[in-house]
Amino acid sequence: MSDFDGRDISFETLAQCCGIDLAQLTAVSRGQLNAALKQLRDATPDYSDLELALVIEDKARAYKRSMPQVMLTPSALAKHWPQLDSLGESRNYPPTNPDVCPTCDGLHLIPSKRPVDPGYDTAYIRCPDCTGNKRSKLIP
Ligand SMILES: [Zn+2]
Repeated sequence: MSDFDGRDISFETLAQCCGIDLAQLTAVSRGQLNAALKQLRDATPDYSDLELALVIEDKARAYKRSMPQVMLTPSALAKHWPQLDSLGESRNYPPTNPDVCPTCDGLHLIPSKRPVDPGYDTAYIRCPDCTGNKRSKLIP
């Protein structure tokens, strides 16, 4: 069974914000969650676990508001953590690497808007900005 027993609120919140089902955690996904959470805790040493969970929720909202087409992952949240307070107010997300598609962060896939039944993974569709009709040099 899971070693998660409900007391690690920030861990659970981070997983929830990223759409991760804790009942289906793989070793890699657990490792990514733990690694990202450690970075967030290191960045916010004065926060309690609950306070950090609340900030994670706020920043995850800001991330989704500014980058609605981009899949939120724990590592993406950790990566963009310092800029999310301001990003939440802006629709423009300046990509740091011009070779990486900002819509899908280079994944070439984005989450489908179709609602997903509980227990099923989010469906993904091809990124419209770097595949399909607008296929570009981004994909060799
Ligand atoms: Zn793309």
